[in-house]
Amino acid sequence: MEGLRDLYQEVILDHNKNPRNYHKLERASHIVEGRNPLCGDHYTIYLLVEQDKVKEIAFEGSGCAISKASASMMSTELKGKTVAEARHIFKIFHKVVTGEADVMPYLEELGKLAAFAGVAEFPVRVKCATLAWHAMNSALEGNSQPVTTES
Ligand code: ZN
Repeated sequence: MEGLRDLYQEVILDHNKNPRNYHKLERASHIVEGRNPLCGDHYTIYLLVEQDKVKEIAFEGSGCAISKASASMMSTELKGKTVAEARHIFKIFHKVVTGEADVMPYLEELGKLAAFAGVAEFPVRVKCATLAWHAMNSALEGNSQPVTTES
């Protein structure tokens, strides 16, 4: 498990350093802001949803390593997925990161996102890890209001 943990750490550091899909999306059909005032994380999530599929997903903003890596990995994992699949992955990811569910049964479905399972041990970090996801999910539900972890 030690080696696996190191690998996961590496994945998170890599995505923080070189965030994927880190740009504005001009053709976005959905744009939602997410804020986590406790940590200072602030992102804008852009989605292009066409024919019930997440055709494009991108983000901009700033925050801690966990929040940025999470937004980056979310963008790579959800691109090309159907809206229903994206919602499903969000649900599992949320359960695992909050510690509500064990990661083991979901390793395959989560893929690299399983790297965030360790966050469950750090309750303060849960909001960082789920911020971009909450914003994405809210956008898919048709909301355009900013999402905040403190309301
Ligand atoms: Zn944070």
